[in-house]
Amino acid sequence: MSRHTPRIVMKFGGTSVADLDRIRAVAEKVRKQVEAGCEVAVVVSAMSGVTNQLVGYCQSLSPLHDAREYDAVVATGEQVTSGLLAIALQTIGVEARSWLGWQIPLRTDAAHGKARIGSIDGEALVERMQAGQVPIIAGFQGVAADGRITTLGRGGSDTSAVAIAAAIGADRCDIYTDVDGIYTTDPRIVARARKLDKITYEEMLELASVGAKVLQTRSVELAMKERVRVQVLSSFVDGPAPSEGNLPGSLVVDEDEIVEKELVAGIAYSRDEAKLSVRRIPDRPGIAAAIFGPLTAANVNVDMIVQSTGADGLTNMTFTTSRTDLARAIQSLEASRDVIQYGELVTDDDVVKISVVGIGMRSHAGVANLMFRTLSDRNINIQVISTSEIKVSVLIAAEYAELAVRALHTAYGLDAA
Ligand code: ADP
Ligand code: ASP
Ligand code: MG
Repeated sequence: MSRHTPRIVMKFGGTSVADLDRIRAVAEKVRKQVEAGCEVAVVVSAMSGVTNQLVGYCQSLSPLHDAREYDAVVATGEQVTSGLLAIALQTIGVEARSWLGWQIPLRTDAAHGKARIGSIDGEALVERMQAGQVPIIAGFQGVAADGRITTLGRGGSDTSAVAIAAAIGADRCDIYTDVDGIYTTDPRIVARARKLDKITYEEMLELASVGAKVLQTRSVELAMKERVRVQVLSSFVDGPAPSEGNLPGSLVVDEDEIVEKELVAGIAYSRDEAKLSVRRIPDRPGIAAAIFGPLTAANVNVDMIVQSTGADGLTNMTFTTSRTDLARAIQSLEASRDVIQYGELVTDDDVVKISVVGIGMRSHAGVANLMFRTLSDRNINIQVISTSEIKVSVLIAAEYAELAVRALHTAYGLDAA
């Protein structure tokens, strides 16, 4: 059955709803989209800085706070902005109503703080939209089976928006933010970053997972799975409401929609890294299991791994985790010291991971080598390397992060003219 009224989800991030003037400007954007003849659902983040403040409150009271209460606290930021935007819209004559996660309901599992969306009942939203009302949905939050509020992990409003778009069968999910699209690298770090008209789901997924926070990783995963068309665009630029013939931002699309395929799509960096070296371990079968088994049990995510063996029958295992997992990783390794029988444990969180991503790597050799040569020309030491089919990542000292990203951006021919 064909539907003639375009259905659009508009998502606004924290800087886009940072104060009342910004909320008024967002209301105008929503009005334009409605007046262009679209059915519109809106997803909002908390005002910028608010979620950080709420997280800080919980941590100050207790570093090991109850995750259910953390969610009860941090979900409030989005409740405020959804109500305020509904008022701003009503004030300019647009019928609007706020919706919290549990009111939809947007059901999740019970992994508080990083819950996964299970199902969304889009029916009530669609009914309201068809009746001419704009639902203003609080992003980032859902409800677990026991009725308690959950949140989807930092940056989770992107995922709320894509999930809502899938649930209501939207034609497009527009992610409004403080940059006007997806760039070859973070435009705040590299002035010559180039805006991409289109990027594949796979490349965006990989870039997000290695640190490009313009979209939450899960939102891209979901968009790819549910085939949601996603556009990233600026909420700070005035202009007509986007339409299929006029999309000002960057589109995340299937590979076959991209005509000119580049070797490398983009470069990302992540400062949320910590390196651990377990040194002087007697080399024998089962070492990796003895180290990583307890880490998995302690809920520590391990990313890059290298093992290096010396001539003396001793081996070293070096790996990375996120900084937030470092304390737990140390605790786990110290607890299993007798089993692993290591000489020493050395940690370093003054490191950054730089990644080069592109589907062109599947068919072209030499991408990794160009990365190694470029860093070596700048005298930047590579501490750990990892690769996947469409990505090469290196761990280097944090002080060289910007230098490395800029040098690689130039080396791969990504600089804007
Ligand atoms: P919002 O609050 O709207 O969700 P975020 O701060 O989460 O916004 O994401 C937008 C930011 O992502 C930009 O300000 C930019 O600094 C950063 N960013 C990182 N990598 C990229 C990239 N490749 N393209 C565009 N922006 C990027
Ligand atoms: N407000 C939440 C955060 O800061 C969710 C989001 O903005 O996407 O992480
Ligand atoms: Mg974000």
